[in-house]
Amino acid sequence: MLGTAWTAVRLFLRELMTYDIAVVGGGIVGLSFAMQATEQSAHLRVVVLEKEAGVARHQTGHNSGVIHSGVYYKAGSLKARLCVAGAREMVEFCAQQGIPHEVCGKLIVATNAEEAARLDELQARGVGNGLEGLQLLEREAMLEIEPHVGGVRALQVPSTGITDYAAVTAKYAEIATTRGAEVKTNAGVVGFDRSGSAVVVRTRAGDFTARYVVNCAGLYSDRVAQMAGDDPGMMLVPFRGEYYDLTPARQSLVRGLIYPVPDPLYPFLGVHFTRRIHGNVDAGPNAVLAFRREGYRFRDFDLGETMEVIRHAGFRVMARQHWKNGLAEFRRSLRKREFVRSCQRLVPEVRMEDMTPGGSGVRAQAVAADGALVDDFRFVGRERFLHVLNVPSPAATASLPIGREILKMVPAEIVK
Ligand SMILES: Cc1cc2nc3c(=O)[nH]c(=O)nc-3n(C[C@H](O)[C@H](O)[C@H](O)COP(=O)(O)OP(=O)(O)OC[C@H]3O[C@@H](n4cnc5c(N)ncnc54)[C@H](O)[C@@H]3O)c2cc1C
Repeated sequence: MLGTAWTAVRLFLRELMTYDIAVVGGGIVGLSFAMQATEQSAHLRVVVLEKEAGVARHQTGHNSGVIHSGVYYKAGSLKARLCVAGAREMVEFCAQQGIPHEVCGKLIVATNAEEAARLDELQARGVGNGLEGLQLLEREAMLEIEPHVGGVRALQVPSTGITDYAAVTAKYAEIATTRGAEVKTNAGVVGFDRSGSAVVVRTRAGDFTARYVVNCAGLYSDRVAQMAGDDPGMMLVPFRGEYYDLTPARQSLVRGLIYPVPDPLYPFLGVHFTRRIHGNVDAGPNAVLAFRREGYRFRDFDLGETMEVIRHAGFRVMARQHWKNGLAEFRRSLRKREFVRSCQRLVPEVRMEDMTPGGSGVRAQAVAADGALVDDFRFVGRERFLHVLNVPSPAATASLPIGREILKMVPAEIVK
């Protein structure tokens, strides 16, 4: 009799302690989702589990801070759709919440005839994605916007902006918590146990029980999927992006954002000049294979993580195809002169002494088993889990629509 009552009490307590959704990862994507899930359903119990002592400590807090317009992405892709919507929403969100931002526009600068021809394609792609105000500029017109720019022709993209994504994420967290979500820091997820209709999420801060888990673990989302017993079908390869700061005396060389024409074979946009929302100007990021997923310095090395990359069949295929470019990136990382040379293609007056080492970030680049670089955003739902497996740039820009996209994929019985 006593035993039955005790079991009933235990079941009741477990039900009381069970979250509807546990979100793994307190970056911009996880917190956008938590904020919008608690808005849609006021009674939803959401907990965000973050391994660091605060939110936005990895990709979200180490990026270029650009609100991308959506000009680059393939028509019909999730990136194109969510970036164009996200840029508009990001500007509105920042304005409503008093977060510093500016729609400063950007120039994509062609430095030779071949790149100049690619600008026509980029413009057509941007128009197809719904962008307005795109303009091709010949040299004289370029100089009116950026008096120190090099190059022969440019595409002006007026809707591009800048903001501070760590501040945006802190605001998402604040709004989510006022709506009842809990954000637990120092709570790195180390495993999962499936238990009946729920999942026990094991973390460094204890166990949390949830009816559903949304994996937004950024650079580790493939690992978290494996912890859940799911095959992510890809591996996240870390690519470090290093920046140099322009010295204050030379910041007048750049008024806004100056980008190169991207190489269609690579997913990264190329070293660009960015006037940051807090006033400084930097150049970067390059794209150097990192020997640790959260390796922000050249010397950061993790044997296990490096071996895992080297053993991955897809990485080996990718390395065979792109080794020349990879070596060039290492050279540019080790030799400032090479880095400055790529900057001089965009702004010829910039000199070695004008640039000092700045910050860095590490991108999670998904590589499929056949060596293909996974381009579009990818979300995979399996039973009680939804894995956000590939949300590279422009995912900070697109974080609001991405959060809603994830919400649509959570089973209706969870988000009642
Ligand atoms: C150098 C660089 C420049 C970029 N520039 C731009 C830009 O200008 N504009 C733009 O829109 N996008 C840009 N991006 C892309 C953008 O920053 C990312 O797409 C976005 O931040 C991804 O957010 P996220 O929440 O998925 O990942 P993250 O911000 O990496 O968050 C994932 C979180 O999960 C946590 N975590 C990992 N494992 C665990 C675990 N086991 N348990 C608990 N927590 C865990 C991590 O600590 C982290 O806080 C850039 C990225 C980089 C690296």
